[in-house]
Amino acid sequence: METTPAHQEILNIKAMIDIGKQTIEIDCPSCKRKVKATFKQAADEVKVTCNCGQVIQLEDKNGTCKKAINDVNKAFKDLEKTFKSLGR
Ligand SMILES: [Zn+2]
Repeated sequence: METTPAHQEILNIKAMIDIGKQTIEIDCPSCKRKVKATFKQAADEVKVTCNCGQVIQLEDKNGTCKKAINDVNKAFKDLEKTFKSLGR
């Protein structure tokens, strides 16, 4: 499949501000150190392990992270659609 330069640019922008890769910091309940996790991990409510060995269960309260990721993805899909129709 051939991609137009404009379309390629969209993909580059998307990679640049991929919200799922944004990192957040959580306080370790055990040692109080900051533990890094990605937005995506928070949305998926996965467990992360601190350097001290403490396992922290991530929580996406009210699905906030999931919603933010969906909103951004939807916006990009609309944008891609617009560019595709322009390239016709
Ligand atoms: Zn810790």
